[in-house]
Parts: sequence; C-alpha cells; structure tokens
Amino acid sequence: MNDGKTLLAWWNDPVDYAWLVGTLAARKALRPLQMLIGLAGVSMAVMGIVIAGTPIGPVHPAVTSTIGVGTAILWALRWWLLRWPGRTESLVLIGLADVLFTLEFLQVPDRLFGAMGAMLLVVTGSYLGFFHSARALAVHTAWSLLSVIVFSVRIATGGGDVRLALAVGLLLVAAVVSVLPALQILYWLLRTESLSDPLTELLNRRGLEIRLPRLVHGHPAVCVIAFDIDRFKEVNDTYGHRVGDTVLVSTARRLHAAAGPGAVVARTGGEEFVVAAPLGAPAARAEAERLCRAVAEPRATEVEVTASVGVAVFDATRSPGSPRPTPERLLHAADAAMYRAKQAGGNHVVVDELAAPGT
Ligand code: GH3
Ligand code: MG
Ligand code: MG
Repeated sequence: MNDGKTLLAWWNDPVDYAWLVGTLAARKALRPLQMLIGLAGVSMAVMGIVIAGTPIGPVHPAVTSTIGVGTAILWALRWWLLRWPGRTESLVLIGLADVLFTLEFLQVPDRLFGAMGAMLLVVTGSYLGFFHSARALAVHTAWSLLSVIVFSVRIATGGGDVRLALAVGLLLVAAVVSVLPALQILYWLLRTESLSDPLTELLNRRGLEIRLPRLVHGHPAVCVIAFDIDRFKEVNDTYGHRVGDTVLVSTARRLHAAAGPGAVVARTGGEEFVVAAPLGAPAARAEAERLCRAVAEPRATEVEVTASVGVAVFDATRSPGSPRPTPERLLHAADAAMYRAKQAGGNHVVVDELAAPGT
C-alpha cells in the first residue's frame, strides 16, 4: 500500500467497536479499564471540591463547581457500576466530557491554569483514538484546537503577555492536537496487521470472524464459499515450498480480483480460502463455479492447480421465517460441502442451501 492509500484506509475504517470491546472483555481487560476511567472522574471531582469557593476556583462556584463536581461523580459511578457503554453512548459520554472540560476551565480566574484544562482533552482523545473512528477523532481534534485557541486568546486579552499566550497555545497544540491522530494510525496499523495474513495479504481467520457477522446480518441473502486446493502437498513435494507459496499468493490474488469489492476474501488456513458475498441461491452457485474456474485457469508455470469448493447459502427471501444462521454455522456448512466436493474428485462445487424450501 502506498502512503496515500494507507491514510485513506485509516480515514475510512469504520472501526469495529463491538469487536474491540469483545476482545478486551475476553482478555479480562475491560473491568480494570472501567476502574481507571472511573478513577479519572473521582480525581476531577476531588480537584473541583479542592478549588471550589477559593480564589483559584470558578467565579460562580454555586453553579460551575456544582456542575463540575456532580458530573465527575456521575461519570465515576457510571463507569464503575454499569456495563461498558455501547458505541453511541460511548461517543456521547466523550462528547459531553469534551464540552464540559472546555466550558468549566473557561470559568477559572487564573487564565494560565484555565489553559491547562486543555490537557484533559488528551485523555478523552486517547480513548477516542483507540475505540472510535478517525472521523470521531477529527471532530474531537477540531474541538481541541478551537479550545486551545480560545484559552490562548483569553491569556492575551486578560492582560497577559501576547508571547506567553502564543507559547502556551503552541505547547498545547503539540500536546493536544498533534499526537493523537498519529497514535490512532499506529493502533489502526497494528490492528490491521493482526487481522491479515502476511503471505497473501488477505484477511486471516480472525479478520474473517470480524467481517463475516457484518455481512451475514446486513443482507437478506449471504453465501460463504470455502476453497481447499487439491493435492497441494504434491505441489510442495514436486516443486518445493517456495513455488507452493507462489501458488498460494497467486490463488489469493485471483480470488480477490474475481470476487469483487462487495465480497470478503480470507485465507483461513494453509491452502484454504473463504469468500463470502451477499448472494442468494442460485447466484451463489454461479459465483462459486466462476471462482473455481478462476483458480484452475492455466498459470505461467507448469503447476496445475484446482480447488474443491463448498458453498453454504442462506436466502431469507426464499426461506421466510427461518432463523438466520450464525456466521459459524455458515462456515461449518461450507466446510462440510467442500469435503463432499473433495470426495467427488476435486475441482468441483457442492452447494448446501441452508433452510431451503422443503428442507
Ligand atoms: P487434499 O487434496 O486432500 O486437499 O490434499 P492436500 O495435500 O491439499 O491437503 P493437506 O491438508 O494434506 O496438505 C496441505 C498442505 O499445505 C500441507 C502443508 O505442507 C501445505 N501448506 C500449508 N501452509 C503452507 C504455506 O504457507 N506454504 C506452503 N508452501 N505450503 C503450505
Ligand atoms: Mg486443507
Ligand atoms: Mg488441500
């Protein structure tokens, strides 16, 4: 991928929030994280109480301190006592925190201390950069930049030195605005790496596990096509492992090119691939046969390659009322169909229509 493409892919990545949260939960990391996020609320509440009514605190403590301390306590209770928030609630919580931080710190009389409040936007931004999309972080970054400008102008217009205001503003821009998008790109790169297969650059099994549920639940009809290369061990034994690798890479490219942009293509094992697409029967069979031929087309080398192909298809329009199969069930059924194709001699397609009329 060239630089422009990498940045574009980062910008367009919707970020699978549910998967991220599920992964952290599986590693038992969610509870400790909730504790820490709640603790940040407690530290804000204590700070608010310490400065309330003092010359450092906000000028209208009855209103400003009460709102600040109250929301900080609610924040802590929310993170400690309730379940991890859903995607929308998560965005709303962070958005509210962002707005409140800036508005509250504009109320403190010491304008330099007020500007320090912008540092809190690094905390919310770090959360956003990990859990949410580049676009969400961009909105936060725009708000952070605006806040930094307002804090700096406030120093300059409050009798402060213009150069001090500029210095504080630039310092805050470096800390609050510049770092987080860079960090988010790194998170995203590592995440993408962990979901793709290094040899073929297709999705790996874990990547497929993430993409498949979206496809299955987002379309009335879906097919999962499993490929296993026939007698691949012979390719390795006859031509060597390096040629075997080349065959895997070229097969991956053929499947990716032939399957088109609406499909999800993955390498799920050594010489096993999966293509999933929003196609119902009988389009799924035609697609599988087309892909089977694409794999078997003659290659530049003398190596002959064919695959056994199993298709599991679910079409809600043909089987109204039948429960939608889970992604695992579709994968399993496609695998079973592939074994039947293998038993039939390979280079062959077997289709299993789940919940087909009359079954
Ligand atoms: P069948 O027709 O029954 O599918 O036989 P097969 O030889 O294709 O299947 P089998 O599962 O017995 O062997 C798969 C082989 O794929 C074994 C392994 O050496 C090879 N393989 C797995 N991963 C890689 C890889 O990354 N590169 C290469 N070159 N070979 C691999
Ligand atoms: Mg195999
Ligand atoms: Mg095989």
